[in-house]
Amino acid sequence: MDGNDHHLFLRAAMTKDISLLLQDPSLSAALKAIAQKVMDNKRISFDEGVFLFEHGTLAFVGTLANFIRERKNGDRTFFNRNFHIEPTNLCVYDCKFCSYSRLIKQRSDADAWAFTMEDMLNIVYKYDGQPVTEVHIVGGVLPQYDLPFYQEFFKKIKQHRPDLHVKALTPVEYHYIFKKAKVSYEEGMKLIKEAGCDSLPGGGAEIFHPEIREQIAADKCDGDQWLRIHEIWHELGMRSNATMLYGHIERWEHRVDHMERLRQLQDKTGGFQTFIPLKFRNQENQMSHIAESTAIEDLRNYAISRIYLDNFDHIKTYWPMIGRTTAQLSLAFGVDDMDGTIDDTTKIYAMAGSEEQHPALTTQQLVDMIRRVGRRPIERDTLYNVVQDFTDVEFAEDKEFRGYFELPVL
Ligand code: SF4
Repeated sequence: MDGNDHHLFLRAAMTKDISLLLQDPSLSAALKAIAQKVMDNKRISFDEGVFLFEHGTLAFVGTLANFIRERKNGDRTFFNRNFHIEPTNLCVYDCKFCSYSRLIKQRSDADAWAFTMEDMLNIVYKYDGQPVTEVHIVGGVLPQYDLPFYQEFFKKIKQHRPDLHVKALTPVEYHYIFKKAKVSYEEGMKLIKEAGCDSLPGGGAEIFHPEIREQIAADKCDGDQWLRIHEIWHELGMRSNATMLYGHIERWEHRVDHMERLRQLQDKTGGFQTFIPLKFRNQENQMSHIAESTAIEDLRNYAISRIYLDNFDHIKTYWPMIGRTTAQLSLAFGVDDMDGTIDDTTKIYAMAGSEEQHPALTTQQLVDMIRRVGRRPIERDTLYNVVQDFTDVEFAEDKEFRGYFELPVL
């Protein structure tokens, strides 16, 4: 790409006129065809998805992704006020990428924990009177955390605080606890709904393709089972999210295959709300010899996700995993959701080597981060109902907070 072509990309980005890209003489016919499809609001194919990973520069995919992001959500950038409960980091499984879990035989290690029901309810009570709207519950898989245990836990949360949205457990846990309870997925998901679970987070998806899944997460539910549990949940009229763990041993086609399966299920049910790419972090796990992806690759991945998943309303960055500054940057590469305040209640990515060792942001800090890159901060609830538009809300200056940077507003 020469100087003139850069100029075209910049002009396309600044004027939001992506048809300018079609004038770039150095852009291949295949990339121009993809740009044309994006302009025409048409779906790109599997092969075009792989082609974008192989040949799409950050400038090209970013320009298209930002165009789609603004067509769908304008400048709005969503966040919520939430906290996490991680019942245990002991686990019967041994996923190769996992830095968080400890095997049952390591239960006496200093960094292993297994909360009682009372411990977990005390975490919920700690937020009494605070304006959080969601509790996110996910952790390791252990026999004692079975179906009756979680039914009771969800019921107790709802009895105490009916308005708190319970976003709980992934198909990895559900597959295990339903099998142990000898109930079908259909029966099990109905029981979970009746107990008070409001939605499913997106975890446990990793990479669906068996060629990769069998190497990194052999024993837990497979890709089809993960998708089937979400499908049943959607058929019950409920919503969920989806993730993809990228940047380890998978190839481009595995990422596109993963997104293709999600896109097909979304066509069928419409039950997914947001897609959350999760970066593989390499500290203290069995894949530590694999280098982590670069920030440029992370941004390209967000952008191509935004282009490929045309039937997903939102793409979310999980800032405790990627760091605050890359999370801010991602808002120009297709992302429109920054997840939540979190309040230092998750250890999953801190233990994997993320720069966020105590992930917590105040509402003011999240709002400030979003504004500094020229976007409108909107507090949402879990189902994307607007709780408060913070675009013009004024705060006193937070002199202590230095966890962000400023981008020129495009
Ligand atoms: S990723 Fe989940 S299922 Fe796998 S070992 Fe870690 S906690 Fe267990």
